[in-house]
Amino acid sequence: EVITVQELANRMAEKGADLVKSLFKMGQAVTLNQSIDQDTAELLVEEFGHRIQRVSEADVEIGIEGELDPVESLKVRAPVVTIMGHVDHGKTSLLDALRGTDVVAGESGGITQHIGAYQVTTKGGDIITFLDTPGHEAFSEMRARGANVTDIVILVVAADDGLMPQTIEAINHTKAAGVPMIVAINKCDKPEANPQKVRERLLEHEIVVEDMGGDVQDVQVSALKKTGLDELIEKILLQAEVMELTANPDRAAEGNVIEAQLDKGRGAVATVLVRKGTLKVGDTFVIGAESGKVRALVNDKGQQVKFAGPSVPVEVLGLSGVPMAGDQMTVVENEARAREVAAYRQEQITRKRTASVPTNFENMFSALSTKVIEYPVVIRGDVQGSVEAIVNALNRISTDEIKVRILSSGVGAITESDVTLASASRAPLIGFNVRPNAKARPLAIREKISLRYYDVIYDLLEEVRNEMAGQLAPER
Ligand code: GDP
Repeated sequence: EVITVQELANRMAEKGADLVKSLFKMGQAVTLNQSIDQDTAELLVEEFGHRIQRVSEADVEIGIEGELDPVESLKVRAPVVTIMGHVDHGKTSLLDALRGTDVVAGESGGITQHIGAYQVTTKGGDIITFLDTPGHEAFSEMRARGANVTDIVILVVAADDGLMPQTIEAINHTKAAGVPMIVAINKCDKPEANPQKVRERLLEHEIVVEDMGGDVQDVQVSALKKTGLDELIEKILLQAEVMELTANPDRAAEGNVIEAQLDKGRGAVATVLVRKGTLKVGDTFVIGAESGKVRALVNDKGQQVKFAGPSVPVEVLGLSGVPMAGDQMTVVENEARAREVAAYRQEQITRKRTASVPTNFENMFSALSTKVIEYPVVIRGDVQGSVEAIVNALNRISTDEIKVRILSSGVGAITESDVTLASASRAPLIGFNVRPNAKARPLAIREKISLRYYDVIYDLLEEVRNEMAGQLAPER
């Protein structure tokens, strides 16, 4: 948390109360003296029509670094795609098959390197970036660290197996992130494949594919026989076009760590996905709380490159330590400044460990388009009957101004997936007659999830109702 609402208001010469009001519309119950995080601050600054300008050293943390990119500087960038789905449904096979469609891989003479992400150049010359770590845990962990790098999710469902628990988890995580989805119905080469059944089952999760009158694209593929891949690529490009994905390539680079490790010969190495600007050899940077100078850049084909623009994943050499996935990389003008920013971030990290102000990204983004405040929640119960009763009752207490948004509901002990989902959306996690399992418990503590246990539905509803009223109160 980097700046109080009052401070930000002062800097923008706006009324603090107006900011608080705006924050409420975004779904955040924050008072003047409370701090907000970087993304929220940036959004507010933009909402109030201000340009982000440098004022002081710490400002790099709220993105008040340089100016907002002017519209005319924005160029089309490649979409960033993540593949999710149930175990054994073919995520890895599909990633490999898609990689095999790259038309420049052969001629470039490079050797495939697994750096955590790769780019494919299509027959038509378009480029797509795929994140190489499939699964929703990585996706939500990154999101919890503020790295919303994925533009499009491909949900892989095996046509012979249908919707399975992790498929549903992936759907919930994708929905919570508000990222558009393309359904790849895989293993269509199998005689027992039943793609139509998959489409029908998806309806139960409010995913309506185009054939059934909805707006979610779906495609039948076989990662094994390599069929349907061109069509899948076409649909990704179509989705990307609709989204008008752009970035300014002509500025100091910013990006996010996809993965990082300590390499025997090369020292600390991180794969960074550049989000905006162009990262160059020789650039001075801060990653998380580590600083460094780019000694070399290596692409997904194992080739040394001089620079990397928006949506390009590259291995960065020259780090002083190993950062974490999701960490932000920011290029700065000199080493003195890099040290300053690194020290500042270190302090922030320490502070975060001791106190955590829950913020509400999902609320924020959904509220921006709908102007209805949302109260997100994850629910777990001991039996289907009570879970249904709770979901129905919660939906009923929604009003025109504030709406309960159930990110996920299910029967059984609270799992790691529930925790990452709640964490990424800063949502409370409610257990009705259930407790977290052995893995979920420590994770919930680490992520500072608001875990609540109930054994009486009435109590649960009362508390949620009170909190919802609390979020609305200052607007009255
Ligand atoms: P992941 O766990 O989702 O990454 O799944 P994998 O890619 O490891 O695939 C699991 C199994 O399904 C492997 O034995 C694959 O060979 C097989 N598989 C993947 N895609 C297909 C497909 O399109 N058709 C058939 N018949 N098998 C497939």
